[in-house]
Amino acid sequence: MPPFDQPAASSPEIPHKNGFLSQFGRSSETTEFFSPIPEGYQRGQTAYIAVMGTVMSGLGKGILSASLAKLMKDKGLTVAPIKLEGYLNVDSGTLNPYRHGEVFVLDDGTECDMDLGTYERLLDQNLTVRNFTTAGQIYSEILERERRGGYLGRDVQMIPHVTGEVKRRLRELAMSGGPDGGPVDLVFIEVGGTIGDYENGFYVEALRELAFEEGAPNFCSVALTYILEPPTLGEQKSKAAQLGIKRLMETGIQPDLIACRAESPVTEMARQKVSMFSNVPLHRVFSMHDRKSIYTIPEAMRAQRLDREVLTILDRHQKVDPVHEDSSRAQWSAYGKSIMATRKHAVNIGILGKYTALRDAYASIDKAIEHAATHLNAAPNVQWIEASEISDATVDEQLDALDLDAVIVPGGFGERGVEGKIAAVRHVRERGIPFLGICLGFQVAVIEYARNVAGIANAHSTEFDPEPNGGVIAELPEQKAIEGLGGTMRLGGQDVALQSGSLLCALFGDAAIVRERFRHRYEVDPDIVDQLQEAGLVFSGRHPEQPIMQGLELPRCVHPYFIGGQFHPELTSRPLHPQPMFMGLLAAAIRRRNPELARAEISTRWLPKDSDVPQAAAES
Ligand code: GLN
Repeated sequence: MPPFDQPAASSPEIPHKNGFLSQFGRSSETTEFFSPIPEGYQRGQTAYIAVMGTVMSGLGKGILSASLAKLMKDKGLTVAPIKLEGYLNVDSGTLNPYRHGEVFVLDDGTECDMDLGTYERLLDQNLTVRNFTTAGQIYSEILERERRGGYLGRDVQMIPHVTGEVKRRLRELAMSGGPDGGPVDLVFIEVGGTIGDYENGFYVEALRELAFEEGAPNFCSVALTYILEPPTLGEQKSKAAQLGIKRLMETGIQPDLIACRAESPVTEMARQKVSMFSNVPLHRVFSMHDRKSIYTIPEAMRAQRLDREVLTILDRHQKVDPVHEDSSRAQWSAYGKSIMATRKHAVNIGILGKYTALRDAYASIDKAIEHAATHLNAAPNVQWIEASEISDATVDEQLDALDLDAVIVPGGFGERGVEGKIAAVRHVRERGIPFLGICLGFQVAVIEYARNVAGIANAHSTEFDPEPNGGVIAELPEQKAIEGLGGTMRLGGQDVALQSGSLLCALFGDAAIVRERFRHRYEVDPDIVDQLQEAGLVFSGRHPEQPIMQGLELPRCVHPYFIGGQFHPELTSRPLHPQPMFMGLLAAAIRRRNPELARAEISTRWLPKDSDVPQAAAES
């Protein structure tokens, strides 16, 4: 039986010496069809849900897709999301966070779009390079294959070759995206950009073909649109949404479900209009209006029975495991209730960044704070501080004025703002203000300590001063060997060995080794480690074998909470599993704000023992 509803081969497959053809279809002289099917692929085993945006980008396709995927995962189905990016960059590594939001890093070292962070957080699932595709990846692969003679004299075309490569990747994911590397029940496909963009046109065409080839009930398409509410009119207008959906239908894709973004709940009238112009029944047109937290969206979709509609469209009700669903929902709704509850402990958290004008540049830090705060009943007031506006002479006055209970110095590249960050670390170290240094923030803490405590007056990083007299942060030897932009960083998950008895170790529940994600080119110079430790800085997190310093702290008798990681703790924080270093930071911030509060009221798990805490600092 041919795998798809297309004519059976009129001529036998032509064998090819490297087996390439058997995977990539019949000779182009014999047929126009080109649908490379991975070996062993079974149609109907996996269903595909495609999420596409209309009207404009930035509406939250990732959130929509991740929320739907979460609802399905809670029901016991296995899910694999994929983001299809239209840009020609091969990955997100070289993108400016000011333009594109933060670069998210997966455990396998993939540098990708921040939406992958949304998926990991909502699904509580680690993703890999297979869950992220860019036009750059697709084209490079095709051009390489063409040079190897893989297309056998055929002219390589957008259709069927480029679309064929897109479908091949989606089917590969379907076959191997499951938790054990096996097939997955559902693949969620998010198309970057907006319908009508040149960049993503070939993805949309590939999805049209995929929908036809997979057939009902194995494909469901979801459109995200936008309902305008101009203040001058005072009512919701659906025309832009209608035109956007119409544009989608012109591509040959009929939406099965529509989510309407809007500021306030979308009226029945507006939903009726959308329904009427799109052939989508009213009960499948969902109001996805602004909410206090994106984590409430899955429940809102459930309340409107969208989960059931998707299962009906895909004929997969029989796959639901009600016991699994009940327990997952119980956990999630408890978290949802804490999100909505009025919080008890107000705290001021300062984040000293370079891209502070754009919150998306630090999206995961924002989320990690939210997760920890929800668990600790805290109401964090996050203050974004532009590091380049701070100097050593003015820092005390500037930061005192903000009345901060904790400070985070996040990761970053480039020199701008570095001296301001160093000054801020001195301020929080001397004042006993809880501190978390992340990646560059960790390096800056080392530089500050070296300069102001260990007496290395010219301490710096070779990133900012290529030949410093007191270079304490230097390029990693293995990175030095591969100079140039892109592909020269230490990336992805690595083990961190924790010093027993340290604050870091206590935060991680006395674990000996934890796994965290890295993205850096520079590290603490191993030759300077002893000198810094003798001066009192503790490198409590190290590489298990190599002399790479991965975590630091000040003893609790010196400072209530001064901690840093060469890694990015924010990337592994999940709503139900908040990252311990953020939990510790928030707990210390609450304690600082309310020193008289009983430890048990905050949660003793995250606080150092009172006997360990410096009295002067605790009281200040
Ligand atoms: N610029 C520093 C390095 O490359 C820190 C990187 C970061 O903060 N992600 O090592």
